[in-house]
Amino acid sequence: MRDFPLNKIRNIGIIAHIDAGKTTVSERVLFYTGISHKIGEVHEGDTVMDWMEQERERGITITAAATTAYWNPSDAPAGDDSRKIKINLIGTPGHIDFTIEVKRSLRVLDGAVVVFDGVAGVEPQSETNWRYADDYKVPRLCFINKLDRLGASFDRSFQSILERLSPNAIKMQIPDGHEDQFTGVIDLLTMTFVQFEGAKGEKVVRGEIPAELKAEAEKARGILIEKIVEHDDVAMTEYLEGKEISVERLKQILRTAVLADKVYPVFCGSALKNKGVQLVLDAVAEYLPSPLDVPPNLAINEKGDEVIIEPRDDAPFTALAFKVATDPYVGQLTFFRVYQGTLQAGSYIYNAKSGQQERIGRIVRLHANEREEIKEIEAGNIAAAVGLKGTKTGDTLCDPEHIVTLRGIDAPEPVISLRIEPKTKADQEKMGMALRKLSDEDPTFRIRSDIETGDTIISGMGELHLEVLVDRMRREFSVQANTGRPQVAYKETITIEAQAEGKYVKQSGGRGQYGHVWLRVEPMERGKGYEFVNAIKGGSIPEEFVKPTEKGIQEAMDKGVVAGFPLVDMKVTLYDGSYHEVDSSEIAFKIAGQMALQEASKRAKPVLLEPIMKVEVIVPEKSMGEATGDVASRRGQIISVTDRSAGVNLKVIEARVPLAEMFGYSTALRSLTEGRGNYTMEFDHYEPAPSNIAQLVIEGKK
Ligand code: GDP
Repeated sequence: MRDFPLNKIRNIGIIAHIDAGKTTVSERVLFYTGISHKIGEVHEGDTVMDWMEQERERGITITAAATTAYWNPSDAPAGDDSRKIKINLIGTPGHIDFTIEVKRSLRVLDGAVVVFDGVAGVEPQSETNWRYADDYKVPRLCFINKLDRLGASFDRSFQSILERLSPNAIKMQIPDGHEDQFTGVIDLLTMTFVQFEGAKGEKVVRGEIPAELKAEAEKARGILIEKIVEHDDVAMTEYLEGKEISVERLKQILRTAVLADKVYPVFCGSALKNKGVQLVLDAVAEYLPSPLDVPPNLAINEKGDEVIIEPRDDAPFTALAFKVATDPYVGQLTFFRVYQGTLQAGSYIYNAKSGQQERIGRIVRLHANEREEIKEIEAGNIAAAVGLKGTKTGDTLCDPEHIVTLRGIDAPEPVISLRIEPKTKADQEKMGMALRKLSDEDPTFRIRSDIETGDTIISGMGELHLEVLVDRMRREFSVQANTGRPQVAYKETITIEAQAEGKYVKQSGGRGQYGHVWLRVEPMERGKGYEFVNAIKGGSIPEEFVKPTEKGIQEAMDKGVVAGFPLVDMKVTLYDGSYHEVDSSEIAFKIAGQMALQEASKRAKPVLLEPIMKVEVIVPEKSMGEATGDVASRRGQIISVTDRSAGVNLKVIEARVPLAEMFGYSTALRSLTEGRGNYTMEFDHYEPAPSNIAQLVIEGKK
């Protein structure tokens, strides 16, 4: 039985630049929704959302978990629950190294609240995350936070949203005062002055607009109404005829426009000073979508046909596992969102990715400070399964009778690697397990071992990402390890077609060995990975030796011929060979496959590929020349230089720079700009490295 109507569920996330106040806003949300009984402050390190010890220390939310809360709009009459909503708050990370987590959470949420720092306005990473949200067409509200801070400006921050993110942002409120004079907000739709009383601002008090703000509020309301009626022809005509449009109707029109991703209502306040957050929750109920308001999902069934997945309780169960996390109390939790159907605790599900069936033992819902065990979960909801073994982030979980795969979550390529070595024998035993668990949680974290040295190499999205993972290994799994210098995750590829033979024959004494293959290698488009084609005709190699040959090919591709980096973006065709009735074996063909691949790639003009990053640098105008010169000296290609926003004298340099040249950049930028410069980067693409650079890499000097 469904415990809450689908149209009153809100699956939302809070997205923000690091330090904009996402954790503080989330805390207030949990407090005001009555679940959290104590307001934790970030600096005291006792926030409820950040239950990973290390996150508390860093003060950044690295993992994306989900928390369930209930909210009755602040203007609901006492005892009236008819508009009460259930909020599943999906945590999103703040640091650029973890953008995969942002993308992953965007995949499962239906709407978002974007938090801005009222002093800095739009920051580079808010922009990156905004674009991701655009890609996923996530309806959004904006909250300009920290209006109590010295130097805060609602107007300037709002202007930066208009200029840098979207001209369709609309002011729903104006603040009364700034900094220590900030007392409350004016709600422009209802033309009321809202203040937040009580020790934690928990009492929402509505009153008259202060006289000195009346004129400004009238003017702002005029603009707001015009912006709203633009989205409804009938209302527009009435408005032009001078008719009054009711607040209820304005809200409805606005809701439709927000759901269509056409406008972004902007609210303001100070989470720290307990002002404004309840009105954002009201707006979540009023304007953000329920699972019924978003387009249905698409999935692929076993026959390869597309099927539509809709939030119906009685249809076959279909869910996406979007996060695997370790909970200190209950162990491994797999968070999933149900897109269709109903799941009972104790029943079986099929993991369409791993091809395995698993029993769902317990299902839990996380609240701010408790775990609630539930017997059943329906379409549109989010919960976690306890103890699922073979399920990883991004896997589709479905009804064993109706196997489908949802459009997954693409994981970007890890670009930084380092060698990791257990400190003691005891650590060695635990390290493998710890690394495996961490990589199950995070598809951008990979582990491999160097075939020649046997060393373990881990790769991830950036230095901080790997640092965090090594740190977690130490804390959560008590594994001590030494790490090498972070290195660029180079790759290799081939540039022309070539063919080669691999022949592994030993026929002197005892049982012989005989494996013989002919391969053709061809370059493929960047990012296409690897494709194997079996073109053996007439049984020149028996079927049973094809798989071992492919295995040999894959092993050889892990270590390319230029400098030992993985070979990518090539098609390998096995087209001929021969075998021996007695001496042929799987191992002989595996070795022959390895030999042929190495030889063929040597002949196919192999090159080294290096990761190129998309870098955005923000500098004061006077440091612009030096900063662009510095980017150029790092083999960077400048794409554009634009003004940050009017009146702030900051320039934004967008560039593509090889990752290899970005080590130590933050220190360099700080000294170039007297500490005022700022930058973000993310992986863009792989590109052949110039030959002088490739030479340095081959010699181990870069
Ligand atoms: P996150 O990195 O986005 O999660 O941001 P946090 O919530 O951790 O906040 C970063 C810092 O800003 C912390 O020191 C907070 O106490 C502070 N902060 C958050 N909200 C406000 C606010 O409304 N006003 C002021 N003055 N500081 C705030």
